[in-house]
Amino acid sequence: MDCIPMECRTACSRVKGRFPYHWDLNVYRGCTHDCKYCFARYSHAYLEEKDFARRVFVKTNIAEMLEKQLRSPRWDGTVVNLGGVTDSYQPCEAREKQMPEILRLMIKYKNPVILSTKSDLILRDFDLLDELSRLAFVNVASTVTTMDEDIRRKLEPGAASSARRMEMLGAFRKTKVHTSVHMMPVIPFLTDGEENIEAVFAAAKSAGVEWVLTALLNLRGQTREVFLDFMEREYPEKYRKLLPLYLRGGLKGYRVPVWEIIARVRRKYGLYSNYQRAIDRDLAARRGLEPVQLSLFEEG
Ligand code: SF4
Repeated sequence: MDCIPMECRTACSRVKGRFPYHWDLNVYRGCTHDCKYCFARYSHAYLEEKDFARRVFVKTNIAEMLEKQLRSPRWDGTVVNLGGVTDSYQPCEAREKQMPEILRLMIKYKNPVILSTKSDLILRDFDLLDELSRLAFVNVASTVTTMDEDIRRKLEPGAASSARRMEMLGAFRKTKVHTSVHMMPVIPFLTDGEENIEAVFAAAKSAGVEWVLTALLNLRGQTREVFLDFMEREYPEKYRKLLPLYLRGGLKGYRVPVWEIIARVRRKYGLYSNYQRAIDRDLAARRGLEPVQLSLFEEG
């Protein structure tokens, strides 16, 4: 694993789309967790670097650039997503220690954050996240696609086990940090069985998680090639069944039964489907306003 220093011009970049945030901050480029479905591989393209999972670029001046943005009168003070196209707590972070500086700045400016990680290294910064959560909205998420460790090891080889991720989320119960699980992607014929979906929801419930977000596998660009190669090599029979779904219009008849399973399991465990309204509810509570009502199946 190489951690290669680089400089950035800005820390937070503007994000467009239906997300519960408008700013994204990535302390790294590349990610050694090497998830076979990772959609962020494109982020290495402009560096003319193909080895997304082995050569990680470290933005050494990111704290300085972040403070410039946070202290600007033009800064809007809204939620920053820490790591939209990389995992902020991947192995490089153990050595580089970029995140404590970022969190200290968020504390200084009382700025809300959300972040998603597949690493328990985040627990090193537990006290900082605890402190920030008393000043601003904080959501810590982890993507968990399966509780089957054999599949997990192949699918997300550099990341912590799913059980360890759930323990990590559970540790935040003692704080005001909100927690969620992203069951993304749900992979046809590999992780879409009711048993697996229920195992993820049950573990999330035991960890005290509030939201489980779900999304079906989407294959585009470089991700398509990497993922299909992986399936053909590791699960040739499932690959043959899955391939027609990812030809034009192939997912049409597949989606509904899977969404029905997810809806049934969601009802059973009473776990919310998104956290935009939860952010609104948290902000309303901090401002002493009327609470925002939540629904299990809220879109947005
Ligand atoms: S942890 Fe996230 S960014 Fe890293 S390889 Fe996996 S999906 Fe990609």
